[in-house]
Amino acid sequence: MRALAAPLSFGLSLFLVAACGPDRLPPIPESPGPVVKDVSLADVGLDASAMNRDADPCVDFYEFACGGWVKSTEIPGDKPRWVRSFSEIHQRNERDLERILEEAQRNPQNPVQDKIGTFYGACMNEQARNAAGAKPIQPLLDLVASYAPPPPSEDDGKPEKKTAKKAPPAPEAPTPPLSQILGELHRQGIAPFFHFTSTQDFRDATQVIAEVDQGGLGLPDRDYYLEDDEKMVEIRAFYLDHVAKMLALAGESEAAAKEGAAIVMKIETELARISKSRVERRDPEGIYNRLDREGLTERKGFDWPDYLKRRGLSDVMAINVTSVPFVDGFSDMASKLPTHEVAIYMKWHVLNATASELSDAFVEQDFQLAKKLFGQDELEARWKRCVAATDSALGELLAQAYVAERFGPESKQAVIEMVSEIGKAMRKRLGGLEWMDTKTRERARDKLDQMDYLIGYPDEWRTYEFELDADSHATNVLRASAWEQARDLHKIGKPVDRGEWFMTPPTVNAYYSPLRNHMVFPAGILQPPFYDPKASVPVNMGAMGMVVGHELTHGFDDKGSQFDAKGNLSGWWDDMTRKAFEVKTKCVEEQYGNFEALPGVKLNGKLTLGENIADAGGVKLAFHAYRAMRENAPEVTIAEGLDEDQQFFVSLGQIWCAKYREEFARARAKTDTHSQPNWRVNGSLMNTPDFAAAFNCAEGTPMNPKNRCEVW
Ligand SMILES: [Zn+2]
Repeated sequence: MRALAAPLSFGLSLFLVAACGPDRLPPIPESPGPVVKDVSLADVGLDASAMNRDADPCVDFYEFACGGWVKSTEIPGDKPRWVRSFSEIHQRNERDLERILEEAQRNPQNPVQDKIGTFYGACMNEQARNAAGAKPIQPLLDLVASYAPPPPSEDDGKPEKKTAKKAPPAPEAPTPPLSQILGELHRQGIAPFFHFTSTQDFRDATQVIAEVDQGGLGLPDRDYYLEDDEKMVEIRAFYLDHVAKMLALAGESEAAAKEGAAIVMKIETELARISKSRVERRDPEGIYNRLDREGLTERKGFDWPDYLKRRGLSDVMAINVTSVPFVDGFSDMASKLPTHEVAIYMKWHVLNATASELSDAFVEQDFQLAKKLFGQDELEARWKRCVAATDSALGELLAQAYVAERFGPESKQAVIEMVSEIGKAMRKRLGGLEWMDTKTRERARDKLDQMDYLIGYPDEWRTYEFELDADSHATNVLRASAWEQARDLHKIGKPVDRGEWFMTPPTVNAYYSPLRNHMVFPAGILQPPFYDPKASVPVNMGAMGMVVGHELTHGFDDKGSQFDAKGNLSGWWDDMTRKAFEVKTKCVEEQYGNFEALPGVKLNGKLTLGENIADAGGVKLAFHAYRAMRENAPEVTIAEGLDEDQQFFVSLGQIWCAKYREEFARARAKTDTHSQPNWRVNGSLMNTPDFAAAFNCAEGTPMNPKNRCEVW
């Protein structure tokens, strides 16, 4: 790894090393002091078999913490990656949910069980799904076909052309406007061309407004259309073939399907060209463009007033647009593209959005694209797909039985304590930052004081007031999707509901919302190895404590720091302090930009910047919090030679033990704002002086580099 240069900031980094040194617990405490107790790694909650103790922790700590696990673990055939924490907990949760759903289906005792059981039952009914084929989406296919009745002459003289499953509407039928068709597709959650949703106003954290966002691509990112390296060219060729196969499954002749796929590729490439990159989309100022009703509806080429009316928003005034060039580019395309081209493009999007819910032929073809992009060999078993579909459609109903079983008051109490200790650690750190002026420091403290958190599950459960069809899974998914769209748009023009959750409770994840200045920890993540009531403080803090510290630091990363204590996008920083901060973040950006996800494939330092800042901050805060929690401990443990500091870091390393398939690693390097797990460990720890001290790493070893990048 190349040496890092950020001359202005390093005086301070060295100062921090010195400041942190004396705090460190001596590995073997002398009497009179705490009693030293020798225990096993399992006693404190660590997995000895996951480690590779032959590896040098100062050279590659990830290998030291995870080498045994990496060697002995195979990625399951139906997965593109496998992570020791996330995937294993997800697998346990999945089995719990399966049992809950099967019970609900077999013997429903209340309306909640009745609903989730019916949904799951329809999803599991393979026979009905296969018998129905594309029938559940026929109304949608008819709708998009109505935009462009093929000219009658086209069929003439082509006797070999197969007739489509469904005859197109009579040519004399009036063509509905695109605003009407898109309005209807978007109402059902199928989104060709763009997304129309609610969003919190960046400049008024109390209000929900409307938003138009770029969209309409079938591949994971605009770069897939625009880059010309060998892999991208190969994926595009595959995609072209895939779209054609899917159109053929939906009744197009082979020739028409091929022609249709080329049209899809042409339109999506055009959309990719006018789309912002993922890095550009991380800039809150850049994606906040209040065109409002007036600015949007004066755009020619697409009937925006009619579209708004069809979405039930005739009166909406406040509208943000994430990219003005995108909206202009789309409006232009809408007026110039031949209607039959737009129709086949929309048909593809109907199929792409629904294929996984239809008969096996569609499901299988849909899987081929995922396999190509991410590398998994097999389709997931139906029950797993049905658990996921129920979680997505009726998440807060399914969660009720899950949290009753899996989420106890002790988990909640543990997180409350962690948040409090980590908050204190951050408060202390803010006091010691020399690069921060007094006023900015005060505001940062205020932001920290006002930072809120939600744990486990929402105070009030959502309702899902739509009918289910016991025989048609795809119909149920479309109804759930329409319900969710309506729920989302209903928020526009109303005050922000700060109790709303953007993850379902069984989800193994957590998030920080800069717009609400709060952290959210679903019940799903509060499980071993993140949190285990039987594990020791250093071990729980190395894992779950690091997660809490990570989320808290998001409030102060390159993006989160642009929002104030209330969640408003406002310049609350002093200019000089901001400049010093930017020098520090630039160091992180350049450092991670040189790490490789795969040989020859580097991480994107700009795309992953916020997560990398949060990782390093999370490590530091969790470490200081754990130290504070153990300050007056009557005894300290040595687990198979590892002192408590070392246990903390091994625990942290082991939550990220992971294996990625090559295709997946490649795709994520392009699209994921998080660095690859091995870099989440080694990258953040090489920036942490306490780590080097814990393992006595000599200066200049890979894990104790001369120049570090430290932000918080
Ligand atoms: Zn994060």
